[in-house]
Formats: sequence, C-alpha cells, structure tokens
Amino acid sequence: MTDGKDTGGRNGRWRVRVDRRVCIGSGFCYGSAASHFRPDGIKSRPVRPVAEPTELLLLVADGCPVGAITLRDQLTGALVAPVQEHADD
Ligand code: SF4
Repeated sequence: MTDGKDTGGRNGRWRVRVDRRVCIGSGFCYGSAASHFRPDGIKSRPVRPVAEPTELLLLVADGCPVGAITLRDQLTGALVAPVQEHADD
C-alpha cells in the first residue's frame, strides 16, 4: 500500500531546510504545503526539520523559484531535491 505518497522509491526520512539568505518570500511553499512550511516574517521556514518523504515535498522543493529549499536524506545527507537538471552539455 502506498497511501498516495509516491516518493520514487525513497524511503528514509528527509531533512527539510530553507536557506533564509536565499528565500525571497514568494509564498509558494507555504501556500502549497502548509503542513511543511510556514511564513516567518517575509521569509519561510520548515514546520519540522525532519519529515516523511512525500511527492508534495519534492514538488515544492523543485518549484521554489530561487532554490532555497533543500531536502536531504536524514541518514546519509545525500541531496534529494532540488534536482540538478542543468548540467553543461
Ligand atoms: S518557495 Fe522558496 S522563495 Fe518562496 S517562500 Fe518558499 S522558500 Fe521562500
């Protein structure tokens, strides 16, 4: 049973971080995923520093317009999102 959380086979918990030096306060993250992000002044911060993997978290981290949100595997520290798709050709 997947309970609707398609995480592409990723099963460990994730560390959720917002780089407040980079965040421009667009509101995309807390507007889209209020259970994971909340406004703090004109910036955003995670509701919890560690979260269960969800497709929503991936979408929000990849959708932050300035790449301020990072998701990392809690155990290994490996970067889960944002996905680096713009390698030099
Ligand atoms: S989506 Fe990115 S820029 Fe917008 S409030 Fe969230 S962290 Fe800040």
